[in-house]
Amino acid sequence: MTWRYRRLLLNRRSYNGVCWWCGGIADSREHQYKRADVVREFGSGPYSGLVRWRGADSYRIRGPNSNVLKFGRTLCQPCNNVRSQPFDQAYDSFIEHLRANERQIILARVIHLPAVWGNWTDGSVALARYFVKHIGCRLADADVEVPAELIGFLDGQLPLRSLLFGWEIRADLLVTFEYKQLPPDSLWLGGLRSHTQARTGDIVAIDSHVGYRWFRLSWVYDDRLQSTAPAVPGPDLALNIGYSTKWTEIARMGLAIELRRRREAVSGWLRSKFGT
Ligand SMILES: [Zn+2]
Repeated sequence: MTWRYRRLLLNRRSYNGVCWWCGGIADSREHQYKRADVVREFGSGPYSGLVRWRGADSYRIRGPNSNVLKFGRTLCQPCNNVRSQPFDQAYDSFIEHLRANERQIILARVIHLPAVWGNWTDGSVALARYFVKHIGCRLADADVEVPAELIGFLDGQLPLRSLLFGWEIRADLLVTFEYKQLPPDSLWLGGLRSHTQARTGDIVAIDSHVGYRWFRLSWVYDDRLQSTAPAVPGPDLALNIGYSTKWTEIARMGLAIELRRRREAVSGWLRSKFGT
């Protein structure tokens, strides 16, 4: 990729009940965690002991439609329920495939997209649009203007040069599940980190991530990126191995040496846990 400075595109903006996609009345709340994922992982409810952690705070969740799982009203109903329906369907197929083939995917570090959708080229574009819609809701919810490039991408324009996706297998989560004997049922939403210019306070980049069990999609929006890497994956989507930077935590688990070695060590560990 090349780094060529153009102009700042991330402005602060309070949408105040306006749909960030079409400008209509925002009367609909998008799920931060997809409802189908919540039901697949935890059942249809009511839940007795399900909790969402945000830092040190916890929030009880009683059912898959809990407001704790949703963004504020940032979209109108047609945008949230009709226009984006193909994106939601593409995402559901992707996650269902990932869930049904966990072991093979972790070992191969590749998701073969033609096995996910009948038309994988349309499917992978729709999947990327699902994540862009998610990012738009996160930005609007945080009073950041959704960049025109993201809205254009939802409306059919390519390419998408300012947004970078990182597709990951989280080795640290796999270790945690294994070591603490935790069930891997879990959904993740990273903090929204903005990078500001010290002198002006302008936002120059924003990043975060979203995750399903051990799978994580990291993203960064930075209009200086001008990435030539395609945002739309395929046909063989390579997954990176990601770790937590909390080495002390991993060291306490007695796996520091095993994990600090290069990727081969992690690969061997994954194979030993998932290969048979
Ligand atoms: Zn709308």
